[in-house]
Amino acid sequence: MQHYFGSVQNGLVILPEEEVHHLLHVKRAELGEEIEVGDGEDVFRCHVDSLDPLRLSVLGQAVSPRELSVAVTLAFGTLKGDHNEFIVQKGTELGVSSFVPFLSARTVVRPKDPEDGKLIRLRRVAQESAKQCRRGKIPSVSPYCSFSSLLARNEAVKLFAYESEALKGTSLWETLKGRDLSSILIVIGPEGGFSDGEAKALKDAGFLPVSLGKRILRAETAALYCASVVSAYVEGKE
Ligand code: SAM
Repeated sequence: MQHYFGSVQNGLVILPEEEVHHLLHVKRAELGEEIEVGDGEDVFRCHVDSLDPLRLSVLGQAVSPRELSVAVTLAFGTLKGDHNEFIVQKGTELGVSSFVPFLSARTVVRPKDPEDGKLIRLRRVAQESAKQCRRGKIPSVSPYCSFSSLLARNEAVKLFAYESEALKGTSLWETLKGRDLSSILIVIGPEGGFSDGEAKALKDAGFLPVSLGKRILRAETAALYCASVVSAYVEGKE
């Protein structure tokens, strides 16, 4: 079933102009067809009542919610090339609710402004990926964040994937056990990893270091590893 984003209120479905264009002229929806509309939280089954003008009515809510029951925030050191897009695209499929690109001591790519065209592109990637995997919610992508702002965050569980823990540290899966998982923040270092000072600052701010196994992963692989493990852990308990 085709998936769109719009607003659904009191049975009234409104799609933004570009979604209307996509539905009518790209996908060429037909009268009487059923489509899905995500409103930022839930997904609704809708009926195409009329094409010109486009009118949609709500048939009901999609059978099962597609959001994780935990708000997962993935913070990642801004990476070179298209690796940031890769993290946002795949992380969205795996249920991440927000992405926080940050700058730290060993970040190679250092954007000058907190907002730029690459962030706009990342938000577009999040929207397209959410549509493709039929989520109700489009994950947010925050402006570039400083390392000190990252330390001040207040999610219920704050973790950082620390390469120095690779061989001897506690695994992400073990660390999730028995914790209040109302909201989780996971921090992945940039290509060069975390400095000793940053690792200490994270620990002092209540972040728990976790191992992602015995091999040193590329940052983008580490991000997907974390999103996959959290999603498997949370959905396995539902
Ligand atoms: N330059 C670092 C080194 O040589 O040790 C490796 C950094 S790694 C490419 C980028 C980030 O991925 C790390 O900062 C960490 O957050 C995460 N990471 C990769 N492999 C990991 C592992 N086995 N355990 C924990 N974190 C890992």
